[in-house]
Amino acid sequence: MKVNYLIVGQGLAGSLLAWHLLRRDQRVLVVDPEEGITSSKVAAGLVTPLAGSRFNIPDGLEERLDYAHQFYWETEESTGKQFFHHQRIARLFRSDEEKTTWEERVAADPDAFERFSGPLSLDNPKIAAPHGGFEMKGGGWMDLPAFLGATRYHLLERLGYAIGFLNPDEVETTEDGVKWKNIEADGIIFAQGWRGNQNRFFDWIPVKPTVGDILDLSIPELSDVSHIVNSGGWLIPKGDGAFRAGSTYRHDLDDPYGHDEGHAEVLRKVRNLTNASFEVSGHRAAIRPVIRRSQVFMGRHPSEPRVFFFNGLGSKGVLNGPWHAQRLVSHILDEEALPEANDIRSNFL
Ligand SMILES: Cc1cc2nc3c(=O)[nH]c(=O)nc-3n(C[C@H](O)[C@H](O)[C@H](O)COP(=O)(O)OP(=O)(O)OC[C@H]3O[C@@H](n4cnc5c(N)ncnc54)[C@H](O)[C@@H]3O)c2cc1C
Repeated sequence: MKVNYLIVGQGLAGSLLAWHLLRRDQRVLVVDPEEGITSSKVAAGLVTPLAGSRFNIPDGLEERLDYAHQFYWETEESTGKQFFHHQRIARLFRSDEEKTTWEERVAADPDAFERFSGPLSLDNPKIAAPHGGFEMKGGGWMDLPAFLGATRYHLLERLGYAIGFLNPDEVETTEDGVKWKNIEADGIIFAQGWRGNQNRFFDWIPVKPTVGDILDLSIPELSDVSHIVNSGGWLIPKGDGAFRAGSTYRHDLDDPYGHDEGHAEVLRKVRNLTNASFEVSGHRAAIRPVIRRSQVFMGRHPSEPRVFFFNGLGSKGVLNGPWHAQRLVSHILDEEALPEANDIRSNFL
């Protein structure tokens, strides 16, 4: 079998690459073992443009956000499924100091913040907002399992998907491409999530896996809340008083799933957000692929020109992933330069 590109892993990263390559008329084969728990299957999928307590507007945020919205909308159109849910986000201040920081930032550059913020309209006495807050614009959440499922279906229809674990040691590189088992390809892109450096080609990349926990809750007293509530932790309303809550950033990989401390930490965050009573109906945890904060790292192997890397989506994969996938595909197909901040060769060699 001959394809243009082999993609290793069908998480968010591998799926985004597959869509971008297909749109450039490339034939792809995506290989994934279909593990029950992965970062993409557990993630909340939040897009919060103004994340962090310093309220920095990162360079290129507007372009990446617009690109993500457009890409998800087009993908929804071509699959007939909905993944992205635009939703108002109530960003509540954690302290008076945080509120002051916000006011100073907005006063210094009101035009930049206008695109992403407006006055708070959340009004439920059971939500704790002693320091006030603002409404974040342009955000929402992505139903990642729905996106992965629709992508897999789209690939299967094009004979572009195989269940399996691709062992990087079995990949042979040639001058014109790569070979794996009976498959020949022009190139291979590794999008393995937190296992990104368990790979003979990329064992020099410092992947720092980080565990995240999420709880499913029933909070009947908040059934009229339609905002995502964000203040250190977050609550995403799912309708009829059901919520998802999170999250944690743990580094103990010995016992990543179903961990008591992770469960307890999310509960503490929920109690800071609301004094309503609630019941926990589920707890899930998964390992995020983090390299340096939530910065995507990608590029070509330094001595194997047909071998590529795409990883490090961290806790902002839904927002940042589409734009970066497009840049990597343009780099591969059109020799366009990668942004230096994201190129594995300028950062880790
Ligand atoms: C609790 C939690 C909450 C999160 N919340 C958010 C959020 O609100 N917003 C946000 O943007 N992001 C969030 N994230 C992060 C988000 O999940 C990641 O950015 C993104 O999903 C990572 O996708 P990925 O494809 O890089 O990795 P993964 O989802 O880990 O996918 C990697 C895939 O590669 C496969 N694979 C690995 N090795 C091989 C191999 N050798 N052969 C074949 N296949 C292989 C794996 O089985 C897997 O399917 C959260 C994560 C967690 C855990």
